[in-house]
Amino acid sequence: MRQANGISFSRKPQLADAHSIAYIVRMKRNILLHPDPRLKKVAKPVDDLTDELRALADDMLQTMYEAPGIGLAAPQVGNLNRLIVLDCVKEEGEKPRPLIMFNPLIKASSDEQNTYEEGCLSLPDLYADVTRPKVVDVEWIDRDGKLQTETFDGLWATCVQHEIDHLNGKLFIDYLKPLKRQMMTRKMVKLKRELARG
Ligand code: ZN
Repeated sequence: MRQANGISFSRKPQLADAHSIAYIVRMKRNILLHPDPRLKKVAKPVDDLTDELRALADDMLQTMYEAPGIGLAAPQVGNLNRLIVLDCVKEEGEKPRPLIMFNPLIKASSDEQNTYEEGCLSLPDLYADVTRPKVVDVEWIDRDGKLQTETFDGLWATCVQHEIDHLNGKLFIDYLKPLKRQMMTRKMVKLKRELARG
């Protein structure tokens, strides 16, 4: 997930000069851009936590920090395992809290909802309000293969739900009205065309 903070909405994104999307070409792992059929697939559960998968998780964290983003899901780097990484600590000087989650599962969601302006590393420079449960209980397997559970609130809750959606082939724009979704998809098609041209 990408955060909208500090982005001016009066400014139309400049596709060609966009240094804010420079991560597309300098990442540890390439991030797939919407529209891409691989972002629509349902990822498969991890039943064997291999060193290869641990290395992938480490690379994903590095890629996420470099972008910078606050969450990244394996399908976004072309891998269809149920793996997400996130770190929603954003205050300057505060200790980072990288989380690696294999097979993350939402066990319970609050009735109370929260609206956040979401962004996504697979849709650079595009943001929209999405309403989701404010608090979620999540269960996952950590990097050491241990089962973990935690209650997330606020930005953390939004981010973990956004990333788990990726494992089910769902993007934040799927919550928007069709017209807005189509508009964003058209912008992405145009951006990808420009990037392909170099
Ligand atoms: Zn995303």
